[in-house]
Amino acid sequence: MTRKMSTSAHGIKRCSACGKSIGRVLVDWGNKQDGKHRVYVECPLCHARSNSYASSNAAIDEWNDGKISKTQTYQESMIDLLEAKNG
Ligand SMILES: [Zn+2]
Repeated sequence: MTRKMSTSAHGIKRCSACGKSIGRVLVDWGNKQDGKHRVYVECPLCHARSNSYASSNAAIDEWNDGKISKTQTYQESMIDLLEAKNG
């Protein structure tokens, strides 16, 4: 009898923005509620991230659903601006 093994009920999927890396759970140090910091899932490569939640499972669920936002750094938005001008 074979059974599908899963290490956790909430395995983190591959990044749906770049598809190159698996998200990781990080503590949102700037977001504290009820004495506890919230957590979010972020892609170590492209830095797409989920919203912050009180529980890591909620953040992972959102990440796995592809509900992520791609936050741009200042440099990245400058590059976009230059490309838009040139293109
Ligand atoms: Zn990514």
